[in-house]
Amino acid sequence: MSAATAERVPIEAGFFTIPDDPAQSPRLLGSKCRSCGEQFFPRRTVCAKCLEADTEDVLLGPVGTLYTWTYVHFPMFGVKAKDAKGYGVGQVDLPEGPRVQSVLSGGEHDFRIGMPMRLELETLKQNREGQDVVIFRFRPSEDAR
Ligand SMILES: [Zn+2]
Repeated sequence: MSAATAERVPIEAGFFTIPDDPAQSPRLLGSKCRSCGEQFFPRRTVCAKCLEADTEDVLLGPVGTLYTWTYVHFPMFGVKAKDAKGYGVGQVDLPEGPRVQSVLSGGEHDFRIGMPMRLELETLKQNREGQDVVIFRFRPSEDAR
């Protein structure tokens, strides 16, 4: 980790990893049913497919395929920059099975259904402790196939 990089903390714990190396992709914190193998995001203790209360924690992503998307012409929550633009929102299908709703990184003309996506972190703001508060998002990525 670079000395110039502030410590990163999640906006809410329990949804994604924050790698020590900012060049590494984060992972989503999911669950896998030990009975039927179905995987979920976010984590759950009871399988939504077979209803067995027997899941284990798994890491999901960091790649997926854009299932659908839209563009919000309004700054994202928590963004205070006066020149802030809108943002994409989409659903990304993970190879492990779950379809994840997520903020998308990129401009309003950068998305197309079926394109490969890669998970990354975005800093929303700094907290009072000087840490970067981050969320996950997906970015179009040709190397995510
Ligand atoms: Zn199951």
